[in-house]
Amino acid sequence: MERPNVLVIGAGPAGSCAAAMLAKGGLSVQVVEAQQFPRFVIGESLLPQCMDILAEAGLVERVEQAGYQIKTGGTFRHREKTEIFDFSQTFTDGWDYTYQVMRDRFDQLLVDGAKEMGAQVAFGHRVESVDFGGDAPTVVVASEGGESHTVRPEFVIDASGYGRVLPRLLGLEASAGMAGRTSVFCHIRDDGELALDYRRISILIHPEIHEVWYWHIPLHAGRSSVGVVGPDSYFERFGGDHEAALRTAMSELSDFAQAFPTPEFLFPVQRKTAFAKAVSRMCGPGYAILGNAGEFLDPVFSSGVTVALKSASLASRALLRERAGETVDWEQAYEAELRRGIDVFKTYVNAWYGGTLQRIFFAEQKVESVKRKICSVLAGYAWDRDNEYVASHARVMQALGSLFGGEGASGRLDQ
Ligand SMILES: Cc1cc2nc3c(=O)[nH]c(=O)nc-3n(C[C@H](O)[C@H](O)[C@H](O)COP(=O)(O)OP(=O)(O)OC[C@H]3O[C@@H](n4cnc5c(N)ncnc54)[C@H](O)[C@@H]3O)c2cc1C
Repeated sequence: MERPNVLVIGAGPAGSCAAAMLAKGGLSVQVVEAQQFPRFVIGESLLPQCMDILAEAGLVERVEQAGYQIKTGGTFRHREKTEIFDFSQTFTDGWDYTYQVMRDRFDQLLVDGAKEMGAQVAFGHRVESVDFGGDAPTVVVASEGGESHTVRPEFVIDASGYGRVLPRLLGLEASAGMAGRTSVFCHIRDDGELALDYRRISILIHPEIHEVWYWHIPLHAGRSSVGVVGPDSYFERFGGDHEAALRTAMSELSDFAQAFPTPEFLFPVQRKTAFAKAVSRMCGPGYAILGNAGEFLDPVFSSGVTVALKSASLASRALLRERAGETVDWEQAYEAELRRGIDVFKTYVNAWYGGTLQRIFFAEQKVESVKRKICSVLAGYAWDRDNEYVASHARVMQALGSLFGGEGASGRLDQ
C-alpha cells in the first residue's frame, strides 16, 4: 500500500491492536514489521484490563481459544510471608482472570486478527525514516533484501517498542526518572515443582535485598518463565555471563533453590538493561506514539502490555473520531488520558522499590477495602477514577508511606 490512511510501525501488541481497531473502523492500514514472526519478546503476564481492550478490538475470542495458561491473580512472597491478590477481589468491576502467554504465539495471533480485519502487514520491513515536512508524512521502508520503498500515509502510528522510531527521529527521548535496573530471564523446564499456585504469577523478593525480585510465570505444561530484576550493581559481579547471573540469583532464593536446584534453561539466558523509557510528547500533527515506543517503567506489576493495548485503544478512538469529522484534542484525548494510568503505575512502582507497598503487602493487619483498591490497580484498572487509589494515587501512597513506613511514592527506601 503506497498511500494508506494509516501506517503502523511494529506488530507487537500495541501495533496489532491499533491496526485491528482502525481496520475494523473502515480505514486502510499498512503495518510494517522489521522482524519475521514468530519472534521471542519478553512480557508474558497479562492483566485483566487487557481483556477489555482485546474485546474492544475484536481479538479476545482468539486469545480465549488459544489455550494459554489462565492467570487469576498474583502471589507476593518475602521469606516466610505470603500475600495473595485475587482478581475476583477488585474494587473495579472487571475481568477476574486473564492469561500468561508465550509472546511469539500471542503476537502472531493478534497480528493475524488485524489481517483478518483488513490490515495489510509487511514482515521483514523496517521503517528507516519519517519526514513530516510535506502535505502527508513520507515514510521510507527498507526490506530485508535492502530495497527501499516510500509510503505516504495520512497518519503514522509508532508502535516500534524499543525500536523507538519517532522518539529518535523527532528528538523526543526523555528521562524516565527511574533508577538503573537490569533483568536476566529465560524459560525453564517446570513440571509444577514450585509449591505455589500456578494459576497466579509469583513475585518473590530476595531474602536480603528488597530491591531484587524474581518472577515465576507458568506458561503451559512443562514450561515457565523466570527472571530476576535488580539494581545494575547487583549484576556487576557476573560481567557478561547472563546464565551465571540467573543461576546464582535463583540459588539465593530458597523457593527457587528448592524447586529448581539445577534449572534447565530452554534457550540462552537473556538480559535487558536500561529498560525504563520515556518521551517528552506522545502525539503531534500526523502521528501518535504507542506502547513501549512511548513509555515503559518497570516489569514488577506486569503493566507493559496493558499500557500498550490501552494506548492502541485511545489512539484508535481518537483517530476514528477525527476521520468522522470531529475536532479532536489529541493531547487530552490521547496523551493526557494515557499518562493518567501510567502515572498511577509509576506511583505504585516507586512505592514498591521504596518499600511502602512491600510493607503493606506483608503487614500483619489487613484492611479488606484497601486491598481491593490496590488489587484493582494490580489488575490493570489504573484508569478507574472511581477508585481513590487511582484518582489520588500519589496522595494515598504518601499517606500509606507515613502509616506503614518506606518512602511512599518517592522510590527511596527508608532503611
Ligand atoms: C524484563 C521485562 C519483563 C517484562 N514483563 C512483562 C510482563 O510480564 N507483562 C507485561 O505486560 N509486560 C512486561 N514487560 C513489558 C513488555 O515487554 C512491553 O511493554 C510490551 O512488549 C510492549 O509492546 P509494544 O507493542 O509496545 O512493543 P513490542 O512488543 O516490543 O513490539 C514492537 C515491534 O516493533 C518492531 N520494530 C522495531 N523497530 C522497527 C522499525 N524500525 N520498523 C518496523 N518495525 C519495527 C519490533 O520488531 C517489534 O516486533 C516486560 C519488560 C521487561 C523489560
